[in-house]
Amino acid sequence: MRLDGKVALITGGASGIGRETALLFAKEGARVLVVDRDEKNGRAVVGEIESAGGTARFAPADVSRAADCESMVAAAESAFGKLDVLFNNAGIMDSADDDAVKTEEEVWDRTMAINLKGVFFGCKYGIPALRRAGGGVILNTASFVAVLGAATPQLAYTASKGGVLALTRELAVVHARESIRVNALCPGPLRTEMLMKFLDTEEKKQRRLVHVPMGRFGEAREMAQAALYLASDESSYVTGASFLVDGGITSAYVTPL
Ligand code: NAD
Repeated sequence: MRLDGKVALITGGASGIGRETALLFAKEGARVLVVDRDEKNGRAVVGEIESAGGTARFAPADVSRAADCESMVAAAESAFGKLDVLFNNAGIMDSADDDAVKTEEEVWDRTMAINLKGVFFGCKYGIPALRRAGGGVILNTASFVAVLGAATPQLAYTASKGGVLALTRELAVVHARESIRVNALCPGPLRTEMLMKFLDTEEKKQRRLVHVPMGRFGEAREMAQAALYLASDESSYVTGASFLVDGGITSAYVTPL
């Protein structure tokens, strides 16, 4: 198994990418701490893992709160004795996030607090735990919009994900010599609740798909497979990467019809 003996903490583990990653990591031998502010669905994921014979626990946390991030890391160490893999994945896409003129300050602040400050807090409290384990892996979920501008604006979201990429690169450089690898996972547009709620008409969906060479939305499971590679020792020489898993969207100038 590819994560045998590892302990992984996954934020946003109750749904979408986080949920699929928790299930896959557990199947590959990791003991998993599922973290989310959605306790009901988070506990359901733990139930699924346990029914399949894996080991998992749930810890409630709002990643925009420092104290919650400190306790989620403590929960991983107290449940499983260490932390090897920290997956800062929780994020939001606010439906009122728009262009510079229309986006309210409150939407900007909330988006930054969860999507960017949440990653900082995860690292602030997670890095000492990774050091105690003798090294480890940090994975931060960014997005393809961190490297491409979209004509359907979500300014706060886009800026927050750009911040995640910059932060990832610097963390990777700073911690490279203490055996801590830090990479950003950049998903393309996915067929998850988050994006489908935003692209809520067929016209909006098709407008986005026009840009994807593969002509389809990605699946959360496909992100979990990439996260598995980045979390495992198979990626032992990969750090500071903006790992794009995007159906080719960032390579396309004109896509085939
Ligand atoms: P999702 O909505 O299915 O899952 C996000 C999870 O994060 C939910 O369980 C939610 O409860 C949790 N969460 C939200 N705010 C939180 C907080 N403050 N504290 C703790 N948990 C919180 O969405 P997803 O598509 O799985 O998104 C996961 C990550 O992938 C996000 O960072 C998102 O920005 C990113 N992403 C998604 C897409 C896409 O198309 N869906 C594309 C690129 C990047």
